[in-house]
Amino acid sequence: MQTEDRIYAYSAVLMGSPILLKLFSDNQSLAAQVFGLIKQLEDLLTVNRPHSEVMSINHAAGSHPVSVSEPVFNLIKRARAVSLLPGSCFNFTIGPLVKRWKIGFHGDTVPPASELQALLALTDAHQVILNEQERSVWLAMAGMEIDLGAIAKGYIADVIKNFLQQQQVTQALINLGGNVHTLGSGWSIGLKKPFSDPDALIGVIEVANKSVVTSGIYERYFEREGRRYHHILDPRTGYPLDNELLSVTIISDDSLDGDIYTTLIYGMGVEGGLAYLAGLPHIEAILVTQAKEVILSSQRQFSFRLLDDEYHLR
Ligand code: FAD
Ligand code: MG
Repeated sequence: MQTEDRIYAYSAVLMGSPILLKLFSDNQSLAAQVFGLIKQLEDLLTVNRPHSEVMSINHAAGSHPVSVSEPVFNLIKRARAVSLLPGSCFNFTIGPLVKRWKIGFHGDTVPPASELQALLALTDAHQVILNEQERSVWLAMAGMEIDLGAIAKGYIADVIKNFLQQQQVTQALINLGGNVHTLGSGWSIGLKKPFSDPDALIGVIEVANKSVVTSGIYERYFEREGRRYHHILDPRTGYPLDNELLSVTIISDDSLDGDIYTTLIYGMGVEGGLAYLAGLPHIEAILVTQAKEVILSSQRQFSFRLLDDEYHLR
């Protein structure tokens, strides 16, 4: 990237998130195509409206299988597999709990413990029955709900990157609100400072042709009686995941991997997460802890510059 190159930025609000596209030439029609593609995928995958392919599966819970399009089926298949990994805190059948807590939405509330217990019984990913021939998904218990919130943006970011490549774009950045994907070199991506000014950064991540996904507990949360409740739920307890981490950032080739591993590693905590990452040479991570430590995996695929002196590298 040449410093004299001009960057053209285009923005939209989709999936309840600010979306940003950066290009190196002024191309309104390409930007409109990108936003149109995101909207199309949102329409298939959303659970925040009464109708989508995923909602048609949810509406038929306990009743009958629903055939869906190939991308939706494949994404559900991957989400199911990750949910069933031993000890996984990723659970795409978390929907009934997400809907009950409403974290990040109007009417957020701390549900009674007894209700959470009852809803946990509806979050068994084994009860999602897939049929490859029919490309159908059946939620075997009434009241079950799929929620792809922890994986769909990653998938969509990969689709956009492929689309831009097909359009011969060699230098671009798409930010879907926490999921950043880059084409070309020389990109600097800010790592936000938790619970601070919206523009404050802990540091800057430099990458080329990589996805950078961050999952944190400081973007979507509410406070009640002095306690903070954030949106990544622990499928073992029904409450927000509670450990020493503030955020997990994953640097990888594919944003789908990034989205999956942010949630998965978040659930493992620092020591478990680092041990797990040691077996995944193609996945790199930046962990930020409540004790204001920044922990970096081997930096083969990125470099990191610490900017905030309240935080220190471990
Ligand atoms: P991640 O950490 O990647 O995932 C957290 C999200 O995954 C939670 O918000 C929840 O939905 C789900 N989740 C919680 N716990 C778990 C768990 N243990 N395992 C698996 N999943 C879990 N937001 C709006 O405000 N309005 C909208 O209309 C809206 N529409 C959307 C449509 C689509 C297609 C998508 C993908 C997202 C939409 N969102 C919307 C945002 C959505 O509600 C989530 O906040 C967002 O996907 C979280 O992404 P993240 O990367 O910040 O979090
Ligand atoms: Mg995720």
